[in-house]
Amino acid sequence: MHSSGINTHWHFDHADGNSWLNAEGAAIVAHANTHMHLLSAQRVEDWDFNFPSSPLAAVPTEVFSSEKTIALNRSTLHLRYYGPAHTDGDISVTFAEADILHTGDTFWNGIYPFIDYSTGGGIDGMIKATEANLAAATDKTIIIPGHGNPVSNRTELSAYRDMLVAIRDNVARLKQQGHSLEETIGAKPTAAFDAMWGQFLITPASFTRLVYEGG
Ligand SMILES: [Zn+2]
Repeated sequence: MHSSGINTHWHFDHADGNSWLNAEGAAIVAHANTHMHLLSAQRVEDWDFNFPSSPLAAVPTEVFSSEKTIALNRSTLHLRYYGPAHTDGDISVTFAEADILHTGDTFWNGIYPFIDYSTGGGIDGMIKATEANLAAATDKTIIIPGHGNPVSNRTELSAYRDMLVAIRDNVARLKQQGHSLEETIGAKPTAAFDAMWGQFLITPASFTRLVYEGG
């Protein structure tokens, strides 16, 4: 039996099991940019943190750039690159027979998402990835987000898209009017969404800052 590990992107909370998987004989599959980030030390400005390069055993062994299909036991897995979104190496994984879509960190269910501009992410790419997720799902698809409530569906994904688009538009309008970052945060462009989405790691002010950076 051939086993596989898949990295949806390079962040440690999603790629940290690699050495262990590799020791078990699993091939580790990832997008080319994820492979590149795991090979060298990375700095994430928003976390003020430097990540050392990964030990070689933790570096992906199978790399692709656009799409890849893997037959695993009785499942068919489709891996698809989103283009730059949460980082520049995000991929989705669909399990065809089970009708499951794993979105990696392009979808944070019920909470504001982090966007990693240091390694190529951006708000417009997050919205584009979310549109791709909506197009890939039906009302029956089980959707697995990167963070937040672990099992989701198209209705929640669609509310997430609406939240991203509304806040992007609010922030872009303020920015175009010449408001500074501090003034934009003060204008509370996320207010209508904070009760539902602003209760976790990424606060309303920090999400506003992430959107402003890319708007
Ligand atoms: Zn991440």
